[in-house]
Amino acid sequence: MKREKGLLIVLSGPSGVGKGTVRKALFSQEDIELQYSISMTTRQPREGEVDGVDYFFRSREKFEQLIKENRLLEWAEFVGNYYGTPVDYVRETIESGKDVLLEIEVQGAMQVKEVFPEGVFIFLVPPSLSELRSRIVGRGTETEDVIHNRMQMAKEEIDLMDAYDYVVENDKVEFACNRIKAIVQSEHCRRDRV
Ligand code: 5GP
Repeated sequence: MKREKGLLIVLSGPSGVGKGTVRKALFSQEDIELQYSISMTTRQPREGEVDGVDYFFRSREKFEQLIKENRLLEWAEFVGNYYGTPVDYVRETIESGKDVLLEIEVQGAMQVKEVFPEGVFIFLVPPSLSELRSRIVGRGTETEDVIHNRMQMAKEEIDLMDAYDYVVENDKVEFACNRIKAIVQSEHCRRDRV
């Protein structure tokens, strides 16, 4: 069935919960077709990250210019760096009838909700906070200070869970992925969407 508009799917949740891993797993599946909205950030690329694939890596000056020109759907400062979603790609993709997925932190997700209340807001949760800490530490790329800041942030982020349509536990990537696919399929069948 050809749909007039695509879904705007927002995958959010605390840092370290595995949003990136779940998102990549989703995009490797053949039975779901999603377009990924590549974010812009001022943070330095991690090893292996590629400009225009993982993020658009830009200077603070460039980022601030785009904010002024209203070219970001949402943006947030997270642990000392800017992150934001270029608005044109999102609008064009939805208008063309394709589903677009944003993988963003919670402040940004709340801004998207203001503009697109009809979006599908999914909150990914860790099985526990201690599990979350060991995932951030296990990533091996962050200093003690950054780990501490991210944990503080995570506790505040979890308090915002009630604003989401769906809560998905990331106990295992494969299971979380299946739950998200089920959500997207159900959303496609909703009477007010067809
Ligand atoms: P990281 O530095 O680990 O790649 O990302 C840090 C946090 O920023 C993660 O929670 C990630 O989901 C979030 N993030 C990535 N892109 C965006 C974006 O475009 N907007 C917002 N608000 N957050 C983002």
